[in-house]
Amino acid sequence: MSILRIILGDQLSLEVSALTGLDRRRDVVLMMEVHEEGVYVRHHKQKIVLVLTAMRRFADSLRERGVAVDYVRLDAPDNTGGFTTEMRRAVARHRPNRVVVTEPSEWRVQTMVESWASLTDTPVEVRADDRFFATRARFLDWARGRRGWRMENFYREMRREHAILMDGDDPAGGEWNYDHSNRKRLPAQAVPPVRMRFPPDAATREVMALVERRFPDHFGALEDFGWPVTRADALLALDDFIAHGLPGFGDYQDAMKAGAPFLFHSLLAPALNLGLLSPREVCRAAEAAWRSGAAPLNAVEGFVRQILGWREYVRGVYWTLMPDYAEQNALHATRKLPDFYWTGKTGMRCLSEAIASTARYAYSHHIQRLMLTGNFALLAGVAPKEIERWYLAVYTDAFEWVEMPNTLGMAVFADGGKMASKPYAASGAYIDRMSDFCSGCAYDVKQKTGPNACPFNYLYWAFLIRQKDRLSGNPRMAMPYRTLAGWPPERETAILADADAFLDQLDQTVAPADSASE
Ligand SMILES: Cc1cc2nc3c(=O)[nH]c(=O)nc-3n(C[C@H](O)[C@H](O)[C@H](O)COP(=O)(O)OP(=O)(O)OC[C@H]3O[C@@H](n4cnc5c(N)ncnc54)[C@H](O)[C@@H]3O)c2cc1C
Ligand code: SF4
Repeated sequence: MSILRIILGDQLSLEVSALTGLDRRRDVVLMMEVHEEGVYVRHHKQKIVLVLTAMRRFADSLRERGVAVDYVRLDAPDNTGGFTTEMRRAVARHRPNRVVVTEPSEWRVQTMVESWASLTDTPVEVRADDRFFATRARFLDWARGRRGWRMENFYREMRREHAILMDGDDPAGGEWNYDHSNRKRLPAQAVPPVRMRFPPDAATREVMALVERRFPDHFGALEDFGWPVTRADALLALDDFIAHGLPGFGDYQDAMKAGAPFLFHSLLAPALNLGLLSPREVCRAAEAAWRSGAAPLNAVEGFVRQILGWREYVRGVYWTLMPDYAEQNALHATRKLPDFYWTGKTGMRCLSEAIASTARYAYSHHIQRLMLTGNFALLAGVAPKEIERWYLAVYTDAFEWVEMPNTLGMAVFADGGKMASKPYAASGAYIDRMSDFCSGCAYDVKQKTGPNACPFNYLYWAFLIRQKDRLSGNPRMAMPYRTLAGWPPERETAILADADAFLDQLDQTVAPADSASE
């Protein structure tokens, strides 16, 4: 009895269920680098390099353990470029009694895998992915019958169920959530830790050359590639974060700073999403840091909430609501994605910085995603699919199961409130409070209208005016709508005129005609 065990590019864990029961004498592990996975969106070059290099290094680690690996390289002459055709070729090569694969993380690939049984005479067994805290069924259990799917409620159940940051039946420290302590602006003299970088070795450089050849017109640069590509390196990155980043993670979780793209964030999402680290070990390491006095509770709880809470929750939302979720557009947004999302050429300093560092590092931290690029897309009425495809393309950590709910549910409110109780819409005042971008911007954050006014200001109010029918009944939006109700009609008219003028020439906009900084 031989088994062909398929390991996909984000299943790089020795504990993945497809490897359970592996018989080294008979079984073969199949790993496939396929062109179609590189181009279903135009992924950042660093993402493709990361996935392919990590796959190659994982295959090496299996071989070192005596496992037979059939590894199909992207540039192999007979590579057909797709998972399904490669699976069929491998079945013809090895004639296994069975194919075993762990459930894919994305709907698109799951649909392919579901078709396999009918395409080959060999039985195909799809196993659950048990690397998460909650199975898909566990989330469904929680969600069934609830009107609102608030992450906080799910998170508390996960804390209890997995005994993380608990003192008996009570939350450690007495509170479930320390978010109120986690909204500090970064003091000017604060020095964030230096990112632990893993310079590309020969194997990585070989893949970099391949990616430059095969995907030359994809977004982003490779020069600053420094992601961990093996489990050993990912563990070093985890240790480094726990020692240097975690203590400040809570306080400055929402802060932004020009020229400092990483601040106190962990940069662990790619390693987690590929399977190089497990969410359990990461949460345990953070909890241990608090218990030993190495990191404060507001930081550790805030960090654990991102992984045990948000990460598990968005996966549940994705698998419960797909495929219809992808089509959501509750606010009827239709605008094309502005070109500056690809070029960074805009006079809005906050956005140009976030996009420039995205091109350079394939990374932005959460608040840059939510409150800069996401907030702008929401206020400008960018079509959800346009902005969703952008997020899927531009980060090394981008995988649809986690990216799509964050974009549609959190950033642009396209699901009408399934995830968020209100849109994350904010004017320039929020960005000014949480960052130092505005002081060097061509626009003036204090001005509400006129050619030099910060576009976030008039776009924010224009958004509220235009979405009044859909949003004014939301109790959490009562305050801004009360403010609007007190405005004279000519003020509304001026705001709408500024917003229209700005949006009409968006792709030509680089800086205001009469720059405030001149
Ligand atoms: C519009 C938008 C798109 C996003 N797309 C992705 C994506 O494709 N892939 C991805 O992993 N995350 C995504 N996120 C969530 C989050 O922004 C990233 O996980 C985080 O910025 C990655 O950087 P980090 O590892 O330094 O995270 P940290 O700030 O250090 O957080 C620690 C870990 O918590 C998890 N996490 C934090 N926030 C979230 C969240 N909202 N949802 C799920 N997990 C979370 C991640 O695994 C992360 O590594 C998106 C958020 C937004 C608003
Ligand atoms: S003034 Fe407005 S556009 Fe400029 S950095 Fe501040 S928030 Fe961004």
